[in-house]
Amino acid sequence: MLSNIEYENYIARRRTQALSIIRAGFLAGLLFNSLFLLFDVWSGLDLDRTMPLRGLWSGVLLTGIGLTFVPRGHDGLAWVVGIGGCVGAWMMAEIMLLDSVPARHVPGLITLFIAAVGMSPSVRSAGFTIAALVLVPTVVLLSGGRPLTAVLEVDAFLGMAAIMCALVCHLLEQSHKRAFRLERALERKATTDSLTGLANRRYFFDRAEIETMRRGRLSALMMDVDHFKRINDQFGHDVGDQVLRAVAAQLRGCARDSDVLARTGGEEFALLAVGAGIAEAMEIGERMRAAIARLDIRPDDEALKVTISVGCAEMASDEDGIDAALKRADQALYQAKHGGRDRVVAAPLSERAEIGLPPLEEGSHGLL
Ligand code: GH3
Ligand code: MG
Ligand code: MG
Repeated sequence: MLSNIEYENYIARRRTQALSIIRAGFLAGLLFNSLFLLFDVWSGLDLDRTMPLRGLWSGVLLTGIGLTFVPRGHDGLAWVVGIGGCVGAWMMAEIMLLDSVPARHVPGLITLFIAAVGMSPSVRSAGFTIAALVLVPTVVLLSGGRPLTAVLEVDAFLGMAAIMCALVCHLLEQSHKRAFRLERALERKATTDSLTGLANRRYFFDRAEIETMRRGRLSALMMDVDHFKRINDQFGHDVGDQVLRAVAAQLRGCARDSDVLARTGGEEFALLAVGAGIAEAMEIGERMRAAIARLDIRPDDEALKVTISVGCAEMASDEDGIDAALKRADQALYQAKHGGRDRVVAAPLSERAEIGLPPLEEGSHGLL
């Protein structure tokens, strides 16, 4: 429910950050490549040989930038990093082989490293990227007849830069995760009922506001444990709490994932049935009532019968918020209590006066 949405938001934020890093890396690479071209001209290098590779390299970087705009899943990101990193490393190694001073191209390669490692979705994939980016130039340089000392020198430089980058990315990731966990724990505490683990009244009303803005069908169910005071009086407060936890668990089992189930008061629960009309709300209510009636709680081996009364109401299409529907559901609940409890009553869309209910006692089932 809440945590999943929050977690997805976190992953989306993290992905956006990673894509910004790699985009900046590719852009910096393009800049370096242009500067090196100027340097090639200035130092009188054979442009016929360097130009095609510089052009190709710019093409790879531009493709990389383009790829960062393509929507993709989390795994796709790792593939782009892996393939892009290997192609880039091969390209850079080729350029190094052509020119006499390989160190001149190291900054460009480091740019690629930072981009690729920074974008890696996990420490493990960053490790693979580093290994690939060090191995490919090594193979190319060695097969091109470079002395081993020069190859090691370049690799050591690249390896160090990449490992430092991976470390920084890892530490950043850890601090993001810690902040996210803390934020989520606080959020959960503020929106959860500590006794039953269900959402609390505040979360219920927040979600109700969001759901009413979607303008789909919406029904409200209000549930109240029958004669709960007697349970407390007869078996004690602890058993009362145990009953509330068991009732909450049963109700949760009957609710769909898209619905919002909350403990809104002492022994009162409410359900926001998203996309449900009154007939479906009645079905859910009946399912819940039957599930509670089946509860088997035996404190001190004595049979304890628990029942609930349920009132349901559908939100009318011309209503702006859930308040009026909750009020009707509350009135229907009151009717269910008057009718003998352990039953589900649906409120018609019309006002109270039209259905001829007796006046409500002040604050009898006061969700509103
Ligand atoms: P009715 O069928 O009309 O709903 O009767 P009732 O006895 O369930 O209703 P009433 O409102 O008279 O009593 C509710 C009781 O719930 C009173 C209160 O002490 C108890 N209660 C409220 N919160 C808790 C709680 O967290 N734990 C326990 N054990 N009892 C609670
Ligand atoms: Mg009650
Ligand atoms: Mg009550």
